[in-house]
Amino acid sequence: MRLQFQWDYESDVVVVGFGYAGALSAIAAHDAGADVLVLEKAPENFAGGNSRVSGGGMRVPINIHDAIKYYKAVCFGTVPDEDIVAMADAMTKVPEILRGLGIEIAELGLPRMRHPVAGGESFRLYSIAKNGKPLFEPIAAVGSGDLLYGALKQRVIDRGIKVWYETPAKKLVQNPLTKEILGVVAERKDKTIGVKARKAVVLACGGYENNYEMWINFNFPGIKVYPWGSPYNTGDGIKMALDVGATLWHMISIEWDCPCIKIPSEIYGCAVQTRVVGAMRPKVGSYIVVNKHGKRFMNECKSLVHRKEPLELTHFDQERLEYPNIPFYLIFDEAFRLQGPLVKNTRIGWHNIFSLYEWSYDNSAEIDKGWIVKADTPRELAKKLNINPEELEKTIISYNKNCEAKMDPDFHRPAETMIPLNSPPFYGVELALTITNTQGGPKRNAKAQVLDTENKPIPRLYAAGELGSFWGFVYPGGSNIAEAIALGYIAGKNAATERPWNKASMHSMKG
Ligand SMILES: Cc1cc2nc3c(=O)[nH]c(=O)nc-3n(C[C@H](O)[C@H](O)[C@H](O)COP(=O)(O)OP(=O)(O)OC[C@H]3O[C@@H](n4cnc5c(N)ncnc54)[C@H](O)[C@@H]3O)c2cc1C
Repeated sequence: MRLQFQWDYESDVVVVGFGYAGALSAIAAHDAGADVLVLEKAPENFAGGNSRVSGGGMRVPINIHDAIKYYKAVCFGTVPDEDIVAMADAMTKVPEILRGLGIEIAELGLPRMRHPVAGGESFRLYSIAKNGKPLFEPIAAVGSGDLLYGALKQRVIDRGIKVWYETPAKKLVQNPLTKEILGVVAERKDKTIGVKARKAVVLACGGYENNYEMWINFNFPGIKVYPWGSPYNTGDGIKMALDVGATLWHMISIEWDCPCIKIPSEIYGCAVQTRVVGAMRPKVGSYIVVNKHGKRFMNECKSLVHRKEPLELTHFDQERLEYPNIPFYLIFDEAFRLQGPLVKNTRIGWHNIFSLYEWSYDNSAEIDKGWIVKADTPRELAKKLNINPEELEKTIISYNKNCEAKMDPDFHRPAETMIPLNSPPFYGVELALTITNTQGGPKRNAKAQVLDTENKPIPRLYAAGELGSFWGFVYPGGSNIAEAIALGYIAGKNAATERPWNKASMHSMKG
């Protein structure tokens, strides 16, 4: 039997997606002697995925034995032991890989791992650097994720690697007999094209943050969340991998960050995030968070960042058949309004990197737009926001009393953050959940080979980055980027060492 397929273009290695994982795969495959083509869905101006808008922090172990201990403890059995060992080894090499490419990085000297498990003391956090100084927000007012993307992109350009922007991959082409991946079907300039991958395909096209159907099936039915990163990450790699027989892993693993302001997030299609609530560094001020019943339900100052404990926000009430804490609202007073903008213009996140909206310093522009609702009394505010007015009033009275005693018996908000809400007018704004990234996708081994339902590699198919990442449960902050670099590099190198399928008689398309 001879299989026929119309190929329009060909290359040794085809890389799908141009974030850090795609860039590293392309560079490693090229440097190992392969001809490489990168297919990227976004236009050039908006390419770079979550990588480009990230914080750019890289958590790297300096000692493989400690890293193995630590990773075993945080993985909770979601990764086979042999892959943990190989992964620990690969992660220690991240600084060497970047420096080998002539990219300067420096240690941030920030606190080590927060999880109290053995091995954590051997990790260091790095970012891109200049003259020995880390270029990392908040140390420097720059987008270090963007800078690292720029540096890697430049190395791709310098090598003459072709990147086709606005060319989303749609499907993998598989030999039905040998199961080898032979190439990719993509869309380019309104045409469907076949791109032959003589050696292998690397999927590095990110997570499914923007795929509502996947989100409600894999994670939280009925809850809309707003991604902090690239809107182009729509789970395409998951669909393509499933289609050729891959198995999935780590689908429950997702990364939260501080909530966002709902109306602008809806308008701009990405999280316009407020770092007032659920932040790593709690903001002190006269504010509370309530649900539509007018009640507080959480410690506003407890960080949501990478939290794996169940969130109060996603608590589901089986009897009432509702998520009682969604929608949820930030309620504050005049003193807090004047304390500064609800949304700070940082150099992290899609809306900041692409300057989609600049928040006014005193929040007045957003009051004028109706994003923030204003009223003279808590009751009036509650009515405008569709919150239970009696309960909101009671909640504020009780919170203010607790402020006098500097105690929060119900939710244990730190005493120093408890400032009474008593200077009218009062304000309220609807918040929503922010997701940084998903971790799930096609299962892979430490050689970056994608595995089928029997845990066997699908020939000539590799994956790297947050599409099926290593992080199946507890996530050590700063490890996605390190993994995208480590595994992207391995995927590219291994893809380049495959024998071209049209020359390998064992894998001939003739059956
Ligand atoms: C705001 C923010 C801050 C973060 N900060 C940190 C941090 O400090 N440290 C850390 O370790 N992690 C951080 N992360 C997570 C980390 O940035 C990502 O997990 C990592 O960069 C993912 O890299 P990637 O290459 O796998 O995917 P991405 O960088 O998302 O790249 C995927 C690329 O694939 C493209 N694509 C999608 N579908 C297709 C298709 N069908 N065909 C072709 N191309 C396609 C996309 O357009 C995109 O360019 C952060 C994430 C966000 C959103």
